[in-house]
Amino acid sequence: MTRRHDIAASDRAAAAGYAKHSFWLETAGDDLTPRPRLDGGITIDVAILGAGYSGLWTAYYLLRRDPSSTIAIVEREIAGYGASGRNGGWCSAGFPVSLPVLRATYGDDGARAVTLAMNETVDEVGAIGRGKGSTLIS
Ligand SMILES: Cc1cc2nc3c(=O)[nH]c(=O)nc-3n(C[C@H](O)[C@H](O)[C@H](O)COP(=O)(O)OP(=O)(O)OC[C@H]3O[C@@H](n4cnc5c(N)ncnc54)[C@H](O)[C@@H]3O)c2cc1C
Repeated sequence: MTRRHDIAASDRAAAAGYAKHSFWLETAGDDLTPRPRLDGGITIDVAILGAGYSGLWTAYYLLRRDPSSTIAIVEREIAGYGASGRNGGWCSAGFPVSLPVLRATYGDDGARAVTLAMNETVDEVGAIGRGKGSTLIS
């Protein structure tokens, strides 16, 4: 799909070989052309560096909290260029610290809170993946 970018930018995307980085990028249905670069200062509420999961989820929740806020996600390459566009695609409640270690470190309440939060993330990702938030980020 060709967007609002010029031919030179499109050529740059092809030259960078973004589609070859991963299955996800190759099948994204986008021509992977980098968005136009900033050519001057802008006035916004929040600037986010990096259009990976961390940056995009942060922008999503900030906009959900206040849809009138202005947010710029500044990416060095293209969205999903980092680990977010190359991972295994597993969405699980697994946390890389065992429950006994969590309990010993943070107590029963802390361990329980982390475990419940991790479980909730799976439902949250699924719900948003089904389209709940698709109009907030362009
Ligand atoms: C091989 C592999 C498999 C994985 N499998 C899974 C899995 O199955 N399930 C799972 O939950 N997690 C998995 N992960 C982990 C998960 O992918 C990462 O934790 C997650 O993608 C990190 O997201 P992020 O947004 O923090 O970083 P990234 O996705 O790396 O995003 C950072 C972005 O910032 C940009 N950037 C860097 N420097 C600058 C700069 N100076 N200015 C502007 N932009 C900049 C980069 O280009 C990049 O796009 C896997 C990771 C790898 C590597």
